[in-house]
Amino acid sequence: MNKKTTGSWVESANLEDCDFPIENLPFGSFHVLSDVTQKNHIGIAIGSQILPLTQLSEKIAIPEGLQEAFQAFDQANLNAYMAMPEVVLQNCRKFLIQLLEKNSAYQSQLKDCLILQSDVQMHIPCRIPDFTDFYSGIHHATNVGKMLRPDEPLAANYQWIPVAYHGRSSSIIPSGKAIVRPLGQTRASGGKPPYFQATRKLDYELELGVFIGKPNTQGHPIAIENAEEHFFGMCILNDWSARDIQAWEAMPLGPFLAKNFATSISPWIVTKHALAPFRAPWNRKEEDPQPLDYLESKTNRSSGAIQIDLEIYLLTQAMKEKKIPPQKIASSDFSRAAYWTVAQLITHHASNGCNLSSGDLFGTGTLSGELSEQAGSLLELSQGGKLPISLDHGEQRSFLEDGDTVIFKAYCVSKDAVRIGLGECRTEILPTI
Ligand code: MN
Repeated sequence: MNKKTTGSWVESANLEDCDFPIENLPFGSFHVLSDVTQKNHIGIAIGSQILPLTQLSEKIAIPEGLQEAFQAFDQANLNAYMAMPEVVLQNCRKFLIQLLEKNSAYQSQLKDCLILQSDVQMHIPCRIPDFTDFYSGIHHATNVGKMLRPDEPLAANYQWIPVAYHGRSSSIIPSGKAIVRPLGQTRASGGKPPYFQATRKLDYELELGVFIGKPNTQGHPIAIENAEEHFFGMCILNDWSARDIQAWEAMPLGPFLAKNFATSISPWIVTKHALAPFRAPWNRKEEDPQPLDYLESKTNRSSGAIQIDLEIYLLTQAMKEKKIPPQKIASSDFSRAAYWTVAQLITHHASNGCNLSSGDLFGTGTLSGELSEQAGSLLELSQGGKLPISLDHGEQRSFLEDGDTVIFKAYCVSKDAVRIGLGECRTEILPTI
């Protein structure tokens, strides 16, 4: 099969290793840097450019059946688009491919509409009503569990329930926006009284984000056979964690202030349609408990997993000053790290009748691989801070320092399909105010 079957008249989209070829077309929200009114637009990434969809209906004729979709884009409301029926999403994707493919009849009308990605400020892609962070990385759960409970690293429920906590959507920020080192309460070991200070154990968590498209009504669970209808797309997600605050506050109700000061996401939502060529069978080891019926389906077994490669880079203040490029410190992949599929997360979340809204975001949980160099957090990579990692230029890290920039990258490769990327999630750490 020839991988380069389509191609785009936007030349930068045809470059090898481009995250945004015509096979991708992820949705994002932005304003143009030179626009003092900072008007919000919806657009799709194509190569190094963006095709704005907001007000595109003033430039070209919109086909029948897509008018409502483009009205949503005109109002810069991606949530309304995400909630639309599957057939609209599919037809819209086909139309967007027609606009941008090689020899497109639309090229002359659209070539002046394109905006360079370097000329915009990306926002979070949609309104995010609720944020739930799962814990589906079994190697992460095991690694962290070993530190806390050497005899029983995985809690008894772990292999039965896609475990999660309810996070905070208001502190979700796009890639490129810095975070401030949080203050919090923690306690030294040995039963001494707690104290309040800037966290000394600031950490990242390598995760993917899952966006919900079609909502469900409260009281109406989502059968696993229908779960993918509610799956809109994915982004990269960094679930910032203050390990010292977390260790003291987490019992008995789980993460709170150790997590909710910030969650960073990459700005482009890669749709499930773009991810389709990278689907893979999902298996549960024979010796492990098999999912209960409501989390089991043929489709989930045959194509529930998604192959996404993940990479973590660190760029310290000293490296910035010496102009040293970011150093890759770990890599992993979604399909091997995750114990549960996207469909299982969706079905489990709604299984009690909980209503999911268009734009809701799930974190997958930290996606550590089986090997130590595949760890998705510094907590694991430095073994709780006991074994600092050494960077090539000489610095060491147990946890993150002020001035550090953490960069996550994610992409999909397959022998049969054109590579697509999710872009990057890049965040600098500023000192406590
Ligand atoms: Mn997490």
